[in-house]
Amino acid sequence: METEESLRGILQRINGKGYKAYKDLSGGFRFRTHALFVDHVQGDPFASPSKIRVRVAMSQAGFPPDLYRSAVRRLALEDFLARAVREAIRRFARGSRGMGKSGLISIDAGGQEVLQRTAVVVRSEWVEARLQIGLPARGRTILGREAETMLCQELPRIVEQALFWRNLPQPQVRRFVECIENQESIRGQLEEQGLVAFVADGAILPRESGASDRPMPREQAVPFRSPEKLRVSFPLPNPLLQDGVEVTEISGMGIPRGITLIVGGGYHGKSTLLRALERGVYPHIPGDGREYVVTLAEAVKIRAEDGRRVEQVDISPFINNLPNGRSTRQFSTDDASGSTSQAANIVEALEMGARVLLLDEDTSATNFMIRDARMQALVHKEDEPITPFLDRVQEVYRNLGVSTVLVMGGSGDYLEVADTVIMMRNFLPYEVTDEARKVVEKFPTRRERENVAPFSGVTPRIPLPHSFDPSRGKKEVKIDAKARDLILFGREPIDLRQVEQLVDLSQTRAVGYAIHLAVQRFMDGKNSLREVVGQVERFFDERGLDELDPFHRAEKHPGNFARPRRFEIAAAINRLRTVKMRQQK
Ligand code: ADP
Ligand code: MG
Repeated sequence: METEESLRGILQRINGKGYKAYKDLSGGFRFRTHALFVDHVQGDPFASPSKIRVRVAMSQAGFPPDLYRSAVRRLALEDFLARAVREAIRRFARGSRGMGKSGLISIDAGGQEVLQRTAVVVRSEWVEARLQIGLPARGRTILGREAETMLCQELPRIVEQALFWRNLPQPQVRRFVECIENQESIRGQLEEQGLVAFVADGAILPRESGASDRPMPREQAVPFRSPEKLRVSFPLPNPLLQDGVEVTEISGMGIPRGITLIVGGGYHGKSTLLRALERGVYPHIPGDGREYVVTLAEAVKIRAEDGRRVEQVDISPFINNLPNGRSTRQFSTDDASGSTSQAANIVEALEMGARVLLLDEDTSATNFMIRDARMQALVHKEDEPITPFLDRVQEVYRNLGVSTVLVMGGSGDYLEVADTVIMMRNFLPYEVTDEARKVVEKFPTRRERENVAPFSGVTPRIPLPHSFDPSRGKKEVKIDAKARDLILFGREPIDLRQVEQLVDLSQTRAVGYAIHLAVQRFMDGKNSLREVVGQVERFFDERGLDELDPFHRAEKHPGNFARPRRFEIAAAINRLRTVKMRQQK
């Protein structure tokens, strides 16, 4: 490894030269407080920024080992440190200088959710942050002195501020790590309490606006308060400060397994509750308001998504006898309707092992959800391909063990199949299951159940590896996450706008590369989609996300990844329009 002095020497020598001379920076440099690795040098000022890492020996950084002794704590600490680095960049980096991204330093830190990500790595021997940096230029001329300021002044300050325990707000770091550990502890206890989700008393569910994921200000929001009948409590591994007192138990609403209906008038907070449950599959940062809203990790949002591609999905439990005589046992289309897309979304979620389905009337196809007595009388069953979800939801629970939480303010037919009914009124929940039963007795619907054949399971599908092509132009592999909701896989766009539990651009990026990894390593024309994605998950468990980048070499900057769930990896594969699948016999 070279010294800081030699780095300064190189920068003085290449000052004023053509941009390509920056390549001389590749390598490692020892600073007083840290080691700097320059892994990738951008080709010109407008290319994607250069990639560097800064590493501090743990003997110097001084983090107490209990903050990273378990996988959850380590993940939380790494997530916190990425945020701390981002904050230090704001404070100590001057920002834009010269052309393009010149002068910018950035790190891939998270939003409201806390995810496993590659931006910061904590090991017992060292702490490392992976950064992007725009090496400064005027035109194509190297601004060596500016680069020296960035690498030899700003960066050491950032390191000093964010990667040394003694300079961090220690109580806040602890609170963060403990809060994440508490959330995961609750998630681990849901099952034994017979629950699929938990919403703590005092939680703030509404967001600042439709365009922001931050909490609504406390003075405007009605804090959550559990109905007595659904109140449960969990012991916590770490005490919690409540009204100035330390408590070791948390209480709130438990949503039991089975079929739960969220009813209530329009604008009373139903969808807001459901959205919090959707996001509750991930831990949240302290202060988010939803940090103690915890859902089983295998909860999947289901919605209508007309226009999507569907490949070889058996949607026959929901849709049969299409007018054109098309089979729905092996249903494929390039342009699904509202109801067929929603059916496919359910079957695909079940295929991947969903334990809970989350549905909102706002984003469901009406004819997929309900068919009332009058419509049954007018349009005969023979002329209606759809078996509404209403007539399947109980089987989904009884036969497959998969619970449903459903927002439904518009049709009382669902009261008949619900095990639990929660009414939202003025943004507060009430348990109204008994009242709902009385209503069902008093107003019989006279509709007939329509399930023709029993729904006993899902036919696994096998993805065929030759139907994936990641090449673009001269490049054999070109995969880009253009936005949170758009991957360009080779030349094919994958539209993820309606995949709502994908929450971070870096997750999307990871999904794009995970598909490639799956094709390369695990798809053989025999393994089912579930097995293939399961193998990707094991790969992540054992080796982390660093190796996702196909250009990754040992000890190099791995890019910006955050871990996606298996459901979102599968969702992207299911939406890749070139993909071919075969049903398992
Ligand atoms: P619904 O689905 O019942 O029609 P929404 O969940 O869409 O209602 O909520 C309607 C509006 O009320 C939204 O703008 C939302 O931000 C706001 N809201 C939801 N919950 C709360 C709350 N607890 N406190 C204050 N405002 C809330
Ligand atoms: Mg709504």
